[in-house]
This record gives sequence, structure tokens and C-alpha cells, in this order.
Amino acid sequence: MAVKKVLRLGNPLLRQKSLAIDESEVKTKDFKKLIKDMFETMRFENGIGLAAPQIGILKRIVIVGIEEENPRYPDAPKIEEHILINPIITPLSEPEGGYWEGCLSVPGMRGFVERPKKIKLEYYDEKWNYYNKMIEGFPAVVYQHECDHLEGVLYVDRLKSPKLFGYTDEFDIKEKSLD
Ligand code: ZN
Repeated sequence: MAVKKVLRLGNPLLRQKSLAIDESEVKTKDFKKLIKDMFETMRFENGIGLAAPQIGILKRIVIVGIEEENPRYPDAPKIEEHILINPIITPLSEPEGGYWEGCLSVPGMRGFVERPKKIKLEYYDEKWNYYNKMIEGFPAVVYQHECDHLEGVLYVDRLKSPKLFGYTDEFDIKEKSLD
């Protein structure tokens, strides 16, 4: 296992579209090592999600997990650690409300983004079980943010206003919904 370097805004790999995984790939040693590295990196950085392209691997893999008391998102609800392969998101509501999002690829900063609060989330896990779930609230934001990375999209592309973006310590923003 290894903590990998997280690519930062400006790195062209963050702007690429990632490739789908096929079933045979999830059984390989390389795949298992990649997943371990991703979890190691996410925990080291106190992230609540990480997409493979953030460590320079252009594959459609996302991991999420919120332990209680994450220092970067102290008020976030707990999300069990899990792996999403080839995730597909279908919005089930219009964008509304919003959150001050952060990203390990844009360290030290936050920006206010509105997204649909309710989504359909389809994905495969590492054992190639298929899931189709309805997700609401903050977890829906996390999944949409992470899946955007697979399309080369960052939250800074979706700011509600360029004025609602800056250094976390200047804004004195805690994880807070403004709705
Ligand atoms: Zn991100």
C-alpha cells in the first residue's frame, strides 16, 4: 500500500475522461493494489471521496467513506467506505440549495455549488455486484462531485458565482449548507 500524490488543479490529467472498467479487471492484482492505494491516500488526506484520476489513473473508479468526525467535514453524516465502479448518476431533481464543496485536488479552498439533491446512482462494486440506489442530501453531493472527476469536471466549473470561491480559512467556512 502507498499514499499517492493527489494531482492538483492545473494538471491536465484531471481534465481527461476516464475509461470504463471491465469485469475481468477487478480480479487482477493491479486493480486490488490500486484500490488499496486509493483508500490509503483518501484516509491520509482526510478526504471523504477520491476518484482514480485524482492519482493519475484514468479509470472509472470512485471510493467514498466518511468516518465520524472527519476534520475537513466535521458535520457530514457517516458514509460507509465503499467502491464504485463505472458509476452512472441520473438526477431526480433540479439543482437547489447547495454546499461549500472542497476537493483534495484544490487544497485549502472551498466553493459554493448547487446540485440536484436527489439522484439515482448505479454502479458495480469490486465483486461485480450491480447496485441501483436512490440517494438524497449530502451523500448525493459527494457522489456527484466524485463522478464529475471521471468526466474531467471539477467543482470549480460549477460554482454558483465566482465570488463564492476562496480559501477556506479566509472565508471561515465550516461544512455548512446555505439552504
Ligand atoms: Zn474532488
